[in-house]
Amino acid sequence: MTFHAKFSGYADPTLHAAGLYIGGKWQSGSGITVLDPSTGNLLAEVSDASIEDAQRAVDAADAAAAGWRATPARQRSEILRRWYQLMTQHAEELATLIALENGKALADARGEVAYAAEFFRWYAEEATRIPGEFRHTPSGSHNILVDHEPTGIAVLITPWNFPAAMATRKIGPALAAGCTVILKPASETPLTAYAMARLGEEAGVPPGVVNVLTTSNPGVITNAMLADPRVRKLSFTGSTGVGRVLLAEAAKSVVSCSMELGGNAPFIVFDDADLEAALDGAMIAKMRNAGEACTAANRFYVQAGIHDAFVAGLTARMKSLKIGPGYDPETQCGPMITQNAVRKIDRLVSEALAAGARATTGGKPLTENGYFYPPTVLENVPVNASIAREEIFGPVAPVYKFESDDEAIRLANNTEYGLAAYIYSRDLKRAMKVGKRIETGMLGINRGLMSDPAAPFGGVKQSGIGREGGVTGILEFMEPKYYAVDY
Ligand code: NAP
Repeated sequence: MTFHAKFSGYADPTLHAAGLYIGGKWQSGSGITVLDPSTGNLLAEVSDASIEDAQRAVDAADAAAAGWRATPARQRSEILRRWYQLMTQHAEELATLIALENGKALADARGEVAYAAEFFRWYAEEATRIPGEFRHTPSGSHNILVDHEPTGIAVLITPWNFPAAMATRKIGPALAAGCTVILKPASETPLTAYAMARLGEEAGVPPGVVNVLTTSNPGVITNAMLADPRVRKLSFTGSTGVGRVLLAEAAKSVVSCSMELGGNAPFIVFDDADLEAALDGAMIAKMRNAGEACTAANRFYVQAGIHDAFVAGLTARMKSLKIGPGYDPETQCGPMITQNAVRKIDRLVSEALAAGARATTGGKPLTENGYFYPPTVLENVPVNASIAREEIFGPVAPVYKFESDDEAIRLANNTEYGLAAYIYSRDLKRAMKVGKRIETGMLGINRGLMSDPAAPFGGVKQSGIGREGGVTGILEFMEPKYYAVDY
């Protein structure tokens, strides 16, 4: 791995690991360039794993598997707890690294590190509470004993938008359950994953329990790992399109899959909402990570009586945000991850404008260096525009007017996705009644932020399969084993 000038001024060099991490050894190399999205300049170059490297990673995970599975839960828990503490101690360096390679504003990056570390603390606690079951059969013929065993070697694939949290949300429960893992981070943001592996090593994670690979050939490398009968779990976070491809590939070896996929969250504001609270929530739900979040509010449905005041308030708030590189402490809205991401946002906004929408602020990409798109509010957007169907993944808030509760529900459910939804109303009974009819895995009522390591995160419909976090998250990495017992 090589680092470039800009980089060394910011992050702690002791966190800079030296390439692929397999079986507790670092293997330096090159082939994958990491860019600063605020300039497009080169930040670093990391190793590009070959199929042989992937096979060695499976060998390493396999060699460590029996020992890790037999390690007492208390000991696994203490290692995770130390990892949490080290992440907390190194929070500022990790946040800077995230802001550099991902582009998000430092405040968001700091929030991510705290959230990411919490998964290690939560699963350090859950490791010691793995449930079992004892039941009497209705016939009285025998007893039913249910144990939970680690699923086996897990391949973990993560996206660039939360480079720390998406990794810890998988590594935490996998290690707590007794699985060994191979993490493949996104090629745009590998530095955070390697820095965290370095901290894991320091926390006492035994060699081979966590392996990290970066590759420019994710399909080939992943397929090779999934074809190995020792790999028993695939946990993926990313787009629905890639999720579908991976489900088909995993089917060939009948590998257990957890899928955290795309979203298209509706944000419903009823006439009786507290306007200021709804605007505060809207800014969090839309602008965390500059809109590059799977839970980001993608469609604002606002009831006619509050619509104009909401649009005016949102416009004022969005207009006031300071745009700049994520690592500048003044920045509130950083760059998008790539030029392609800016092009996609531009296409969706241009199509909406051509169909009759009006931009009350923003509306076209910035022309300076880097991959910037300004905070944008659109009103009068046709409900069938492509911006209402596709993930925007950027700082654009399309607002649609509605009249009745039934109309809001129909519009909210008019999507193939079902990850997150938000409702603002002072009438909790109404919010719960509407919420019950929204097809979603997660619902924020009078809250713009729902992510919490202690809660089950995940979606329905095309947004995924399974849940991460909460008390059930550990079971995604375990198989129940039933003992029929007569004595
Ligand atoms: P992506 O393109 O699907 O990539 C995600 C990961 O999959 C990356 O590590 C990528 O590697 C890898 N990948 C791509 N093609 C692959 C293949 N054929 N086989 C194996 N791995 C492959 O998604 P993204 O653009 O990074 O992330 C944004 C998406 O993630 C959005 O749709 C967002 O909603 C979703 N997301 C969902 C959640 C959730 O919890 N539900 C959370 C965060 C993000 P490369 O980087 O090398 O291409």
